[in-house]
Amino acid sequence: MRRIKARVQGLADIFVVKRVVRFVSLRRVMRDSERLQNSRSAEIRRLKLNWRGRMLIFLSVLLILPTAAAAAKPNIILITLDTVRADRVGFLGSTRGLTPTLDALAQHGVIFSRAYSQAPLTTASHATILTGTFPQFHGVNEFGEPLRDDLPFLPALLKQQGYRTAAFVGSLVLDPAAGLAPGFDRGFDFYDAGFRKPLLGEDRFQTLERRGAKVIDHAKVWLSKRPEGPLFLWIHLYDAHDPYDPPKLYAERFAHSPYDGEIAYLDSCMSKLLWALRTEKLLDDSVIALMSDHGEALGQHSEETHGIFLYDETIHIPLLLKLPNNRYRQTHVASRVGLVDVAPTLLDIAGIPIPDTMQGHSLLSLVQKNSTAATRNTQNSESAGTDRAAAPIYSESEYSSRAFGWSSLRSLRMGKYLFVEAPRSELYDESVDPLEQHNLAQVNPAVRDTLQAKLNEVRRDSIGASEPRNGANLDKAQVERLNALGYVAARSTQEEATAPINRTDPKDKIDVANCMHEGLMQIEEGRYGEAVPKLERVLAEQPDIVAARLQLGIAFSRLGQYDKALPLLRQSTQESPDLAGSAHYELGVALFASGDIPGSVPDFEFAVARSPQSSDAHYSLGSAYAQTDRAADAIKELLTALHLTPQHYMANLLLGRIFSLQGDAQTSLPYLKKASQIRPDAVDAHLFLADTYEQLNRPNEAQAERQAANLKKLSTQPAH
Ligand SMILES: [Zn+2]
Repeated sequence: MRRIKARVQGLADIFVVKRVVRFVSLRRVMRDSERLQNSRSAEIRRLKLNWRGRMLIFLSVLLILPTAAAAAKPNIILITLDTVRADRVGFLGSTRGLTPTLDALAQHGVIFSRAYSQAPLTTASHATILTGTFPQFHGVNEFGEPLRDDLPFLPALLKQQGYRTAAFVGSLVLDPAAGLAPGFDRGFDFYDAGFRKPLLGEDRFQTLERRGAKVIDHAKVWLSKRPEGPLFLWIHLYDAHDPYDPPKLYAERFAHSPYDGEIAYLDSCMSKLLWALRTEKLLDDSVIALMSDHGEALGQHSEETHGIFLYDETIHIPLLLKLPNNRYRQTHVASRVGLVDVAPTLLDIAGIPIPDTMQGHSLLSLVQKNSTAATRNTQNSESAGTDRAAAPIYSESEYSSRAFGWSSLRSLRMGKYLFVEAPRSELYDESVDPLEQHNLAQVNPAVRDTLQAKLNEVRRDSIGASEPRNGANLDKAQVERLNALGYVAARSTQEEATAPINRTDPKDKIDVANCMHEGLMQIEEGRYGEAVPKLERVLAEQPDIVAARLQLGIAFSRLGQYDKALPLLRQSTQESPDLAGSAHYELGVALFASGDIPGSVPDFEFAVARSPQSSDAHYSLGSAYAQTDRAADAIKELLTALHLTPQHYMANLLLGRIFSLQGDAQTSLPYLKKASQIRPDAVDAHLFLADTYEQLNRPNEAQAERQAANLKKLSTQPAH
């Protein structure tokens, strides 16, 4: 039998052989096996079976066709749309008309109308999607927490099965190399990220995030040159994440609701992606799994964005599954499912064993039960899929605890209820209160206690024997990148962060979280004056939010109000070991800018020691050395800065100027040229270049540079 299997090609043929064995003797198959061909009709002819045998084989061929398609390792395309609310997509009932492409795709697939995220934060939720495990098990509950090697990981599992794997992500937050999502590139042949904190003059779309169209352009290039074999493609589109700033056309059309504009734009990007898949002949026979990682609160329950609360606006998410050849098209699954079920489902569809460590369940049988054909054949269609209808859905958020020191939140959706475990627990009857407005926890203590007990049980059973976490270990640059996205890095005390639910209820402090997020985003956008009152309010409410004090110090420093900045920054250097690098750096910047250059040196030295990979820290120390008569030390630091970031304008400019002032014009020239290339509009680079050309006795070039500098000066003067 083994020999026969070796001769036939493909699992489908093995199925034929197995079924043949039921009706004809093994000996006969063995004898005829030499002549087995790939074509099943040829097999049937050559086996010379009787009529009954032929008929049974014919039927079996019909029956196995779908299995054969699945067995051929379907291409798998995972699409995660960041921050898209379930109530914005047409296929879940939105009448806003934002998602014609997604709605058309949904016509060919399976719609899960009650799908829920397990965590309202990007890295935690994506870790659940890709590992098929709960946040309390995978432990990626904060930015920068490494994804452990021992976790089951969909890309790695598919790669082991011969898949070609590629990821195209839209934001710094999922960039493993930038340190905010370490380990997420495991199992990927190609992981397209490459994000960083913006340099002066750069916008967020060049640095922190990438618009959807660009993410898809990158994917299209890879697809056009992809290697042979089944593929796993992960596309992550970040556009709907705040700040809501869609491209001009959508910004104008949705001026009243830029969030909706982002979603309409995302939909247009999806149209590009689907077209590319069709062009590459990947649309029809691929599995496409499309989902959001979490929603967006938009002010509901007083939360502006996401990350803290566990209500439907951030936890109910769109989920679509298009199977190869549109199997089970137009199937609606109304049972509750979770993002934790996505990875096991995709493995199941591909015919790959689901590891025991995965905690979600394949949704394939639920899809089959709810399919149109199954429903037609069921007397009582309501019963289809009810086996999972009562299954509880667990979600949690530790962000409030880790960023602010408040209580974590945990929730369970079960039956008609949403239960939220919190210092003041909450219970909502969603059948009559879909907006979760009327807390029944005190009115109905029996239900509350039952759900609390069930939540404890689900959590206890799913937390597993996961290893203790290392904790995120973010350096100064990583903390800054995180702040640039509007998030607060974890507080340093792990013990405090994971303490049980016995501290401040986030419900009482949500305004503080909103203010903090807004303040961080305003600082990122250079709106320091607007950030000041936000951060002052945060500190007035809760003086122990160290990150707020540091950011307020930065805001005053950028505004030139050093008398206010310096005490805040000095205090910040003492308060948190995690933030000490950033605090010393910013204290150095404020001292330098206020004229105390010798005083800035020790702070910059501390910052460099803490963040040796930070080109800004090396540059700043170099410039402090340069101004305190330590030219050799300055050159060393500036060279290090340029080694880390060759495009660092200020480091090129200063290094070129130092060499020029030392009389080494030849060495100076390439640095100054580079500086003027990086920022052609900068006057300083042209003036310094003019000096250098004069030193080199090249008067024409010197004059050209002076003219360029004058032109730039004129163009920057206000018109009269
Ligand atoms: Zn997200």
